[in-house]
Amino acid sequence: MIRIFPHSNTNFACPECNTGITEPERIAFLGIHTMAFCTCPSCKYQFLHDLPAGHGLTQPVCAGITEKKIHKGPKWFSNQLFDSPVSKTISATVHREVGSVIILNCLDYLYGHVLLKLLNATHYIDKHPDKGLILIIPSGFEWLVPDGTAEIWTVHAKLSDFKKQISSLDNFVQEKIKKYDSVFLSIGWSHPDPTTTDISRYSRVKSFELNNFDQLPPTITFICREDRPWIRSGCGMISFQILRLKISKKLAAGWFVRSQNCKIRRTMKRIRMAIPETEFHVVGLGNTGSFPSWIRDHRLSTIDAEAEKKWCELYSKSHIVAGIHGSNMLLPSAHAAGFIEILPDDRQGNIYQDIFSPHQGRISHFLGRFVREYVSPKEIAKTACAMIIFFERFRLNMDENGQLYGESDNLTQFESRLSNMKWQISKNKGLKKLIHNYKI
Ligand SMILES: [Zn+2]
Repeated sequence: MIRIFPHSNTNFACPECNTGITEPERIAFLGIHTMAFCTCPSCKYQFLHDLPAGHGLTQPVCAGITEKKIHKGPKWFSNQLFDSPVSKTISATVHREVGSVIILNCLDYLYGHVLLKLLNATHYIDKHPDKGLILIIPSGFEWLVPDGTAEIWTVHAKLSDFKKQISSLDNFVQEKIKKYDSVFLSIGWSHPDPTTTDISRYSRVKSFELNNFDQLPPTITFICREDRPWIRSGCGMISFQILRLKISKKLAAGWFVRSQNCKIRRTMKRIRMAIPETEFHVVGLGNTGSFPSWIRDHRLSTIDAEAEKKWCELYSKSHIVAGIHGSNMLLPSAHAAGFIEILPDDRQGNIYQDIFSPHQGRISHFLGRFVREYVSPKEIAKTACAMIIFFERFRLNMDENGQLYGESDNLTQFESRLSNMKWQISKNKGLKKLIHNYKI
């Protein structure tokens, strides 16, 4: 945590003369950035420097105030720092008044960044009960605020507004923090640890209980993105460029998205051949094309808190959620038993940044699969069938084996579970052949 009031415990090197170690004159809440205003004691150069919080921890922006020069910081984070600020309404909800508080600034223009920063909240609620947690969030994320939060400061704005400074935010915060004895800024890790985070404290939906894996009807949910569709061939990159440049949204909707729908349908058809009782669902933003009646279509053209929660309930009943890489995979992977992610080549370096699966150890590899963007429906179907059919056997052999040492009672339990396994691979040669002989 970083102390910011009444005094800050940070200091920064001057970017101009590189000699002055400067204590901030004040800390400013600009929106996505929480920055120190500094004047170099040696050369009197005035500059802004991100505090080590959120993405400012690993990719801090440093900028000269007078000439608006960016000294350091990635483009995505610094591009619009000096653009005309926007003024937005901010509201406060107070649940608990405490003398000392921690502020967690979750603002960002990317959905996944906001969500991941917000997922730090329970750490501070649990580990620092003597301090009150204050969340700064964009409207639309209130439904995910965990119980125990002391205050919520909601900025009523579209996510895209957070590319620019929010001119009304700093005055709002400065006025509010006067009443506290001490104020700290949460580091707000941009990728908190999913293995120590209970997602149900945010969504109020319990994630899939692995002990029920074989008891529940196999359920597969595909998360469709119309702005980043699953395209098999090299034209995938062409589609990305078309969508990015907005040359022809109609073309994208009319061809690439319908092509994606077709691949999803073919994938599910093959899984259905192998495991007829499987239930299939699709979710996502958009409503291009349609699916046959045996695939339940939950897609929506706009989303609100109630709809997002219903999607979470669906993920929590899903043995597998599948979809293309992106923040669209965060809540699905956090709630479902397993996931299959289609990872485009240009996102290889970002692997796992959009996954919030809580599993650890060998089972996490079994339940978390990444495939290339050129993958065929048949390959995804084979992977999905193998995950469903072999899960219990994998778990007994690979995940819980160590627990048997010196526990003779467990052996009886082990044998009982073995005999009750739903998918008796050794007896059911048909299923095995179906997978290995490429008949699906
Ligand atoms: Zn200087």
